[in-house]
Amino acid sequence: MSNHLPVGATIGILGGGQLGRMLSVAASRLGLKTHIFEPGANPPAADVAHAVTTASYDDVAALTTFAQSVDVITYEFENIPTSALDVLENIKPIHPNRKALATSQDRLTEKTFLQDLGLQTAPFANVENAVDLTAAIDTIGTPAILKTRTMGYDGKGQARIKSAADADQALADMAGATAVLEGFIDFSAEISIIAARNPDGAVSCYDPGENVHVNGILSTTTVPANLTPSLRTDAVLLAAGILNALDYVGVMGVELFVTPNGLIVNEIAPRVHNSGHWTQNGCTIDQFEQHIRAVAGWPLGDGSRHSDVVMENLIGDDMDKVPEAAKTNAAIHLYGKADVKPGRKMGHINRVTGAAK
Ligand code: AMP
Repeated sequence: MSNHLPVGATIGILGGGQLGRMLSVAASRLGLKTHIFEPGANPPAADVAHAVTTASYDDVAALTTFAQSVDVITYEFENIPTSALDVLENIKPIHPNRKALATSQDRLTEKTFLQDLGLQTAPFANVENAVDLTAAIDTIGTPAILKTRTMGYDGKGQARIKSAADADQALADMAGATAVLEGFIDFSAEISIIAARNPDGAVSCYDPGENVHVNGILSTTTVPANLTPSLRTDAVLLAAGILNALDYVGVMGVELFVTPNGLIVNEIAPRVHNSGHWTQNGCTIDQFEQHIRAVAGWPLGDGSRHSDVVMENLIGDDMDKVPEAAKTNAAIHLYGKADVKPGRKMGHINRVTGAAK
């Protein structure tokens, strides 16, 4: 544990949503403090953090004061403006690093990086205008999905192209943003693997979970995923390869499609991930503590799973399920968001379904 953060040190977190909240709780268990930087008022993390700065990402003075008040900086979302990173990076270390952020912020960079590592991705092409899109549809074929290169999440910024006739509307949906066309993958399942790496280069992975999305938003994660042992090993090895290639420090979520030709990487998220919430009740050291351990330079938990879990997201009116769930032995995790809105992640429920075999 050379260069590890001592008890009482402060971790700066960019973003004050539910991920920042659960990271703060995990940090506090280890005797560490968190300081949240968040433009919005009353973020979920503010309830449990040691300090909160409410300021925009272009407020250089606020960024500077924030960075000076913490020992290390991490983040709970990947769309942090580069200009903010320029300010912060000069003052305190940021984990995961700039390369990880740049790679995951842009789907074109991300897919190119993954292919260069020898991993399978959906066939893809850069689309900046109608001519590019016609050429891309010719090469990749249909069905396909047009996705904005940057700022997409939870299925936003995406348009399905069933046939070439859908091209104009799909391009219009991009609202002028540059995009990538992806061939549609006929997957048998979607899984994700949550992996961690610390500054010593130690890597630890959790068991892959099987994800079901509804309207582009994660609905459930079931662990263990229904995977052959060899695909499970593939998932672990490919995640470790990605972390090593990025000289990564922290937790990463890697989303994968399961196909007859093996695993295809959909996307990587350089942060704790919704599909890793099951670890809170399935593992001794969950993904939030694991991330804090990694950025603080502590030894990692080994990622082993003691229980099988089904994680269910509570989106919008799903909050109505809480009273019933509270009568059972389900673990309820709520984010303290006052306003219920359609599509808003309000909390999640982890149901332990048995001891891990
Ligand atoms: P994403 O925002 O890229 O994670 O996409 C959201 C969801 O859309 C994924 O979880 C998949 O269910 C689906 N999806 C995205 N890309 C593809 C693809 N190339 N082929 C098939 N389904 C996809």
